[in-house]
Amino acid sequence: MYIVTYILDIAALLYLIGVLHSSPALNIYRKKPFLVGIILTIIVILAEAGTVFTSNGGLNLRNINILCNILGFALTPMIPLAITLIFDGKIFRAHKFLLVPTLINIVVTVLSPLFKFIFYVDANNHYLRGDYFFIFIAVYIANLLLLIISTLETGKKYNYPIKWKLVALSIFTIIGTSIQLINPSVYSSWHCITLALLLYFLLLSEFDSSFDTLTGFYNRAVFNKAAKQMTDSKAFSIILLDIDDFKKVNDTYGHDYGDTVIKTVAAIIRKSFNKHYTCYRFGGDEFSIMSNEADREKIEYQLRTMISNFAEMRENGSLLPTVSYGYSIFPGGEKLDFNKIFKEADEQMYKFKEIHKSDAIQEK
Ligand code: GH3
Ligand code: MG
Repeated sequence: MYIVTYILDIAALLYLIGVLHSSPALNIYRKKPFLVGIILTIIVILAEAGTVFTSNGGLNLRNINILCNILGFALTPMIPLAITLIFDGKIFRAHKFLLVPTLINIVVTVLSPLFKFIFYVDANNHYLRGDYFFIFIAVYIANLLLLIISTLETGKKYNYPIKWKLVALSIFTIIGTSIQLINPSVYSSWHCITLALLLYFLLLSEFDSSFDTLTGFYNRAVFNKAAKQMTDSKAFSIILLDIDDFKKVNDTYGHDYGDTVIKTVAAIIRKSFNKHYTCYRFGGDEFSIMSNEADREKIEYQLRTMISNFAEMRENGSLLPTVSYGYSIFPGGEKLDFNKIFKEADEQMYKFKEIHKSDAIQEK
């Protein structure tokens, strides 16, 4: 009976490998650990299927049963580690000690057929839990916790609602796999992990296709969606920013330096606006900031903070170009014409830019 569900899980995972390979949405550096996670899962599913079938077979299958158990117990805690790498590719290079529990689990698992540590297959080809089965559980739970912490860190870094979606998914994985730990005859773990991997892919594809990779800001596509969600009833404001004479920065110092300037400008913008303001990069040297703030004074205050942060960076020796900006407020409670609001901010920005440019000519 279980053969059908094992085949379905493996078929879904093979399908996921195909989608992963060709997906333009997922960041390239996530693909390798994702692939490792899927392949480990397929091997562990095959190993578990192997233990089910060989333990129902004759005594001559005992050695294969032992081998399948070793594979299952040794590789299972590696799956949350592989998923952790999807979020933070450098974590184990920076903190090698995090791999120690997994290595201990591998050693005690491999020694189990002799010393009954994690499991034991008796002379009648019957599986039993070993005296130190808790080591496997503890390592698996420790690695799951590491996964949750690294997903929380990712969410915090991007200030994005993905945080709670990822936590919900991690809890789903823990509950789904715990059922089998409590009752070994319920083979729920691998259906749960297969589903979790599919859901992780879905979530991360959405996440990766929402951001501009250079600055970490939301991209233009997300801005367009946010614009469509604005309604007549709710007030909002939109600020547009464009770096002045950015082409000259590229021409004088090179494109790589230009990239560094864009990143620095984005970092100053992020630092200057509080969490009620959402930042977008339109592409090139253009940025937008939207919020539900309709109080002119408060917006002006945030912009002044930004200007003083720019000045502070310049005083510290950074060669930063000037930035022109304009903003527009929709008070809410009237018919909304988003393009009109956008155009107002754009026109204000260009007026500001003209002033910047004439100042620059006079300074020369
Ligand atoms: P203005 O003051 O009128 O805004 O002049 P500008 O030179 O800044 O002109 P504009 O905003 O039209 O040009 C933006 C330039 O940004 C054009 C393009 O070569 C460059 N650019 C666009 N994307 C990137 C990027 O990702 N990295 C770098 N280094 N340059 C980029
Ligand atoms: Mg510009």
